[in-house]
Amino acid sequence: MEIILPSVYGFCRGVRDAINKAEAAIFRAKAENLPCYIYGDIVHSSNVMESLKAKGIIKIERVEDAVSPGYVVIRAHGITDKDRFSLAEKGLVIVDATCPVVLRSQRLIRSSGKPFLIIGKAGHSEVVALLGSGKATLIESEEDLSQLPKGSYDAVVQTTFSLSSLSGILARSLELGIEVNLLNSVCNASIERRKAFLEIADSVEALAVAGERISKNTTELWECGKKTGKPCFLIPSPDEIPPEIYSFRSLGLTAGASCPDTLFNNIKRRLESNA
Ligand code: SF4
Repeated sequence: MEIILPSVYGFCRGVRDAINKAEAAIFRAKAENLPCYIYGDIVHSSNVMESLKAKGIIKIERVEDAVSPGYVVIRAHGITDKDRFSLAEKGLVIVDATCPVVLRSQRLIRSSGKPFLIIGKAGHSEVVALLGSGKATLIESEEDLSQLPKGSYDAVVQTTFSLSSLSGILARSLELGIEVNLLNSVCNASIERRKAFLEIADSVEALAVAGERISKNTTELWECGKKTGKPCFLIPSPDEIPPEIYSFRSLGLTAGASCPDTLFNNIKRRLESNA
């Protein structure tokens, strides 16, 4: 089987920088004999988290879980202002690994003088962080718009939100007389990865995305591949390669922004060795 790779795939700058910051924090904490906590998952990848845990990081889900003085790394998707304040109040050294794209959206929410909308999925860590940056209403779907009073709103979009769902929400808002002023919350890394993946779709018989299901970035690439009409597979690990994939003579293979190079290379090698 011939494997074609897109011009860009895998780790984005935000993910790479976040992991580097976490590793540097672990190193500093060890040197000072202090614990190094991480608030949530640094990125949505169990492979990355297992690797950081093996190096000594301690995952916490709530501020009160940080029981000793030390370092705390803020995940790439950010946290609420309240939690950030509480961590600082506890005297922890904060290592901010929030992606600049998310930080920009948080700043926009804080500084807007207008009613604000956050377009995204409830419960996603980035959306939790955005909702915790100021007064805003969450819009998950077109249906949510019917609850809104008519008027003009500033808005940001979760970086991995589906573009087709966003188009639907914007079209419906026009019908309802709701003005949505989309502020710059675009994640170029996600857009570039989708575009590059689509560029190779015409030249292959099937498509595949390396990465884990917990990563929205990865599942969005998968959805994007399926929309081409070609068979498109999600491959979380080398052991989960579907056997039918070997019936195709060519495969366009990409990876989500949180898929480590080692995982991608192991999947690619396994595909090649069974070809
Ligand atoms: S995918 Fe986009 S938002 Fe997420 S870490 Fe990378 S650059 Fe930041």
